[in-house]
Amino acid sequence: MFKSKHTHCVVCKKIIQPGENTFVNLKNPKRKGITEIKAYLRLEARFYCTDCIKVSLRNK
Ligand SMILES: [Zn+2]
Repeated sequence: MFKSKHTHCVVCKKIIQPGENTFVNLKNPKRKGITEIKAYLRLEARFYCTDCIKVSLRNK
């Protein structure tokens, strides 16, 4: 998923452009502090583009 420098939506695989709004599904960190936030994001974050979020919100 993170082989390229681009961020991809996990639903439609569209590249999320720099500066574009995105939504991140993220577990609450078990460890305290954010010193390793970059590594944590790389491992745990799931990105959604605005289109897919709109669709999923509409279906609920
Ligand atoms: Zn999407």
